[in-house]
Amino acid sequence: MSFSSLGLSAPILKALKEEGYETPTPIQLKAIPVILEKKDVLAGAQTGTGKTAGFTLPLLELLNRAKKTDAKPHVRALILTPTRELAAQVEQSVDTYGKYLPLKSTVIFGGVGINPQIATLKKGVDILVATPGRLLDHVGQKTVDLSKVEFLILDEADRMLDMGFINDIKKVLAILPKNRQNLLFSATFSNEIKTLADDLLNSPVLLEVARRNETGGGISQALYILDKEKKRELLAHLIEDGKWTQVLVFTRTKHGANKLSEFLAQRGITSAAIHGNKSQGARTKALEDFKANNVRVLVATDIAARGIDIDLLPHVVNFELPNISEDYVHRIGRTGRAGNEGSAISLVCGEELEYLNGIQRLIKKEIKQIFLEGFTSKQVYVAPEKPSRGRGNTQSRDQKIRAERDARNGGNNRNNAGGGKPTASKDGQPKKPDNRDKRPWEKDKKAGSGDSRSPRSFSTNTRSDAGHSRKRNYDK
Ligand code: AMP
Repeated sequence: MSFSSLGLSAPILKALKEEGYETPTPIQLKAIPVILEKKDVLAGAQTGTGKTAGFTLPLLELLNRAKKTDAKPHVRALILTPTRELAAQVEQSVDTYGKYLPLKSTVIFGGVGINPQIATLKKGVDILVATPGRLLDHVGQKTVDLSKVEFLILDEADRMLDMGFINDIKKVLAILPKNRQNLLFSATFSNEIKTLADDLLNSPVLLEVARRNETGGGISQALYILDKEKKRELLAHLIEDGKWTQVLVFTRTKHGANKLSEFLAQRGITSAAIHGNKSQGARTKALEDFKANNVRVLVATDIAARGIDIDLLPHVVNFELPNISEDYVHRIGRTGRAGNEGSAISLVCGEELEYLNGIQRLIKKEIKQIFLEGFTSKQVYVAPEKPSRGRGNTQSRDQKIRAERDARNGGNNRNNAGGGKPTASKDGQPKKPDNRDKRPWEKDKKAGSGDSRSPRSFSTNTRSDAGHSRKRNYDK
């Protein structure tokens, strides 16, 4: 099936051709016709599936079909995202796919001056991409008019809720015209998402594509169970022994991120930390250095890493497991993108075993354990008998943690909504390899084949081989 058979017009097809897109991804195949029929959509698709084009292409098509060319543009489509980085990326996609259309778009988010945004909005735009907090600032100052919005898209809605944006979303919904088309994209479906979907969507069409972490395609997952004090040493060992050139490491706390980054630097492993306490300039620089392969390790907290899109990221390490199981899915989804294979390694100590059980229940899979001399805890880990027996416990625990977090944030976490200037500039991006025939959604073989091995046959060399092949791709 080609893009031309999906009902998209020539200017969009031309832009797609220039981008090198030949065939639609599964989510695009499903979403484009349904959205063009003007139906509400509830879509389960995570980053890396091509979801952005899945909603952007039909949106551009519909807006253009009904465009009155002589009138001054007004906001007809509103796209909300949880983070500044994601907002910038989405707007860039709108810009790219819509470059041959007479439609105007802009992006607004916090942490940067509001005046240039006001000036752009004043000139008029058709498509507005925004983070909720800054959007409400504009609403408060009456510098944006949302009274003619025809399309509302909530992208990564689960993260918006995780970040405490539910009240902001409700405020935005209250001022939008009732008669509009709504699209809700979310990687996971918690009860909160279902409630939001019930409130927001009218007889939605449900679309779901396989999540790569569940199918095993693209990302190989493994873990070490070891004493907490040995984690730093093991991480350094993995990086050095595996000759890893680019690894995103997750810690739970900002302080932990700083300390780990300092430790790695002392070991001669170039590293930078990003988290909410870092200045915007420092975050932007750290990300750019990491993308340009100037630093090998980026140590990040969950919120700082949200929305970050790094092509060809070969390794993700969970230095500490997230206490919300779904964050594990988001974290490992940073690797194994754009047709490449990726590895996700978790370093788990005794006190995190409960989190591990929750994660395994969520992904319905037992993550392979690697035993490495000198780094294996004396504690014996016995997986629960049926890791796939459902997710009720995990969900209720996660809901509790989320509720506590929301309460701490007063139901509004807009200050945490990403930081730094957008990092989506095409100029700063590594060049993509010419491997378009090997997209994640087209894979015919499972990544790494590690899953079929016995735990002991995992070796750090396996990881290092994978790293080299990806590096070669990258160098092309
Ligand atoms: P997303 O899931 O929207 O973040 O997209 C993941 C990546 O896939 C982005 O780099 C897109 O440019 C790319 N992509 C999206 N759709 C296609 C397609 N049909 N063919 C090739 N690449 C695509």
